[in-house]
Amino acid sequence: MASQIVRHKTPHWVGLACSHLQNLRRRDFVAGAALIDGCWIAGEKRDLVIDPATGEEIGDVAHCGAADMNLAIAAAQRSFHAWRALLPERRGAILRSWASLMRDHSEELAVLVTSEQGKPLAEARHEIAYGAGFLEWFAAEGERTYGETIPSHKSGSLLQVRMQPIGVAAAITPWNFPVAMITRKAGAAIAAGCPIIVKPAPETPLSALAVARLAEEAGVPNGVFQVLVGDSIELSAPLLRDTRVRALSFTGSTQVGRLLLEGAAATVKKVSLELGGHAPFIIFDDVDVDKAVKGAMAAKFATSGQDCLAANRIYVQRGIYAAFVEAFAVEMAKLRVGHGLQSATDIGPMTKLSVANKCRAQIDDAAAKGARVIHANADANLGCNFVHPALLSDVTDDMLIACEETFGPVAAVLPFDSEEEVLARANASEMGLAAYVYTDSLRRALRFSDTLEYGMVGVNTASFTGPPIPFGGWKQSGLGREGSRHGIEEYMELKYVCFGDLAA
Ligand code: NAD
Repeated sequence: MASQIVRHKTPHWVGLACSHLQNLRRRDFVAGAALIDGCWIAGEKRDLVIDPATGEEIGDVAHCGAADMNLAIAAAQRSFHAWRALLPERRGAILRSWASLMRDHSEELAVLVTSEQGKPLAEARHEIAYGAGFLEWFAAEGERTYGETIPSHKSGSLLQVRMQPIGVAAAITPWNFPVAMITRKAGAAIAAGCPIIVKPAPETPLSALAVARLAEEAGVPNGVFQVLVGDSIELSAPLLRDTRVRALSFTGSTQVGRLLLEGAAATVKKVSLELGGHAPFIIFDDVDVDKAVKGAMAAKFATSGQDCLAANRIYVQRGIYAAFVEAFAVEMAKLRVGHGLQSATDIGPMTKLSVANKCRAQIDDAAAKGARVIHANADANLGCNFVHPALLSDVTDDMLIACEETFGPVAAVLPFDSEEEVLARANASEMGLAAYVYTDSLRRALRFSDTLEYGMVGVNTASFTGPPIPFGGWKQSGLGREGSRHGIEEYMELKYVCFGDLAA
């Protein structure tokens, strides 16, 4: 991954991440050792970790291979029976102390996240709290895997449905939420009674390994939570092939999700996928423009736009279209672009050059096809991973940005006239993760919440995530749900038991 970063000089913040990391109280957070079966493995080969804002090397981590993964699978399998036998409240207590350690070390974890991922420090702090929240949520949820008793259709019999842990689980996680996407999966698996092996994104291994340090301190036993960094294909192959791995959870691109689903078919694993989005953000002309702008800004620019919930197509009804574009441009111009470790920063670098290049390609394509391009502070030269917030107005459905996810701070605004028209355009996508509707009409809000083909719909709000909600998408945005009472089901099997011959 290091080879993707083109080096450049950025006088204001060269060395900033390195100096923050050198000052961490917890030196073990930057040791970069993998965690396999309770042992910290330094590895013979090391992979570089890069500050995406500057291209500087900020650390290195153990490069694990297929043989290491096989050891981890065996260790996970060995740990399974004792872990599932523990009372749920004991498993919950360990998850709660893990969450509490994360909160105690929030600042250091946030510095790691910002240094390797690039997001502003305030957002990184928020991610740590969000991530700890999943451990706490599932600590409680593990005690509520009740199962069912079915009124019997056979005389003298008792019919039960039990929920039981599925076995060894694996998680392949992304770089945009390098901590929370791990705890959202691991919290559910561990609470269910399953060991889990995590392969984090190669761009953001330090925060994953730091979280593993805290898991160990919280008392998660050897083999129950393991983290291995290395080549994605080499590490995922044993996970896909091995029959002992019974569940696979992935967050990332739809393209890789499809490959993993195909790979998991050979051993018929339970697969949950949280893939890309392409969220429509629909604004009717009965709403207050300022409220709509505030919502659209939040839904577009959080995580510097590198968010699967990001508003990708902002549809604005003709009556307020011009006013919306003008007010949005004013707000966008206030965004400060910079290194995430600088306190004033709202928009950090893209974590990957490929993501920045995709943004630029979408801007060029839209401009060539007639969109109006408004850049905020476009003259500052910050480096190739930075994308200045851009507003594309008068976007049409044939432009790239209207057809594919952006994953960066580029806002596309499209005018519309009627309710029927915008509903058809919003649903004309193979993606179905999140959608937003802003309207003052209750009837219309109810109609849209019913007919939008998306797994999550925000009505008059851009903020709806958190541990209690079932996060997941329809169509090619994924399979299964994370968080909520449903999240734990991805790591459990139902068992039907019939007790017969009970009549006295
Ligand atoms: P990606 O899907 O390539 O990477 C996500 C994870 O999958 C990482 O851990 C990566 O190492 C791993 N991976 C990659 N190729 C793999 C393979 N062949 N086998 C097994 N594991 C593999 O995502 P990306 O290329 O880094 O980002 C591209 C696009 O994906 C983004 O622009 C965005 O649209 C989407 N994305 C979505 C999310 C999300 O939250 N849903 C997160 C990250 C990326």
